Amino acid sequence: MNELAPLATLGAADFKSAYKPIWCPGCGDYTVLSSLTKALATIQRPPHEVAVVSGIGCSSRIPAYTSCYGFHGVHGRALAAATGLKVARPDLTVIVTGGDGDGYSIGGNHFMHACRRNVDMTYIVMDNHVYGMTKGQASPTTEPDWDNKLSPGGTGIRAFHPLVIALAAGANFIGRGFSGDPNGTAAIIAQAIRHPGFSFVEILSPCITFRPEQKGWKEIVRAAPVDPTDDPALAARRIMTDDGFNIGVLYAGHRNPYPARVGLAERSVAELEREFEL
Ligand code: SF4
Ligand code: MG
Repeated sequence: MNELAPLATLGAADFKSAYKPIWCPGCGDYTVLSSLTKALATIQRPPHEVAVVSGIGCSSRIPAYTSCYGFHGVHGRALAAATGLKVARPDLTVIVTGGDGDGYSIGGNHFMHACRRNVDMTYIVMDNHVYGMTKGQASPTTEPDWDNKLSPGGTGIRAFHPLVIALAAGANFIGRGFSGDPNGTAAIIAQAIRHPGFSFVEILSPCITFRPEQKGWKEIVRAAPVDPTDDPALAARRIMTDDGFNIGVLYAGHRNPYPARVGLAERSVAELEREFEL
């Protein structure tokens, strides 16, 4: 009997589609896409065993730029669609991508409850503190004093803190990356995918069109000066007291993921339909 030939090793290019991204030249999302495909090459699951789900926004275009199965849904609902997908198909690696506007505003409720449910999937948010696709409105993570023509003098509203919300709501893995550090970000994403339960990776990804000053982020990000912790109280203290530019894995917990219960339905769809007949 012939031995089966070993499967070819997959490289990052195997996870890219033929579509060229249409982001503005210099947008941080280009390197986040590269980091994602590098991370998938590290994981070595073939593209047909991976699904990338998104909502709406510049960064939510990512599924089309990968060779994986993709679902480009409606604004703020990516986590709901991905949760259904993962529960129905626990064999797939499910990755959700999007931005701060999509994920923390209209999608904020789904974000908290996805952390709480702890379904085994990875949520990557490209945070640029602005709504890019709809031309530069303040988003939930915009600094209160960001002065621009749509909110003269700033909104005056305290910025949302996604990492500490994720921790409090029960996310099992929390990391922060920077688009200017593609290899480091790829490593964080790979760890997030491998970690059981709901993994949240926030990536600082400059919008050079509406927030050109974010080019300066490369001067201030630095590796978090501490090792990851599994102690949520310690992680909370660190996350609440850093300045938002420490990158790395900040929390890796031990909660059991939401268990797959596929095939446990006791009644068929036809029976359920009969029950609700008028
Ligand atoms: Fe990127 Fe901003 Fe351009 Fe959108 S508007 S593609 S976030 S640079
Ligand atoms: Mg944004």
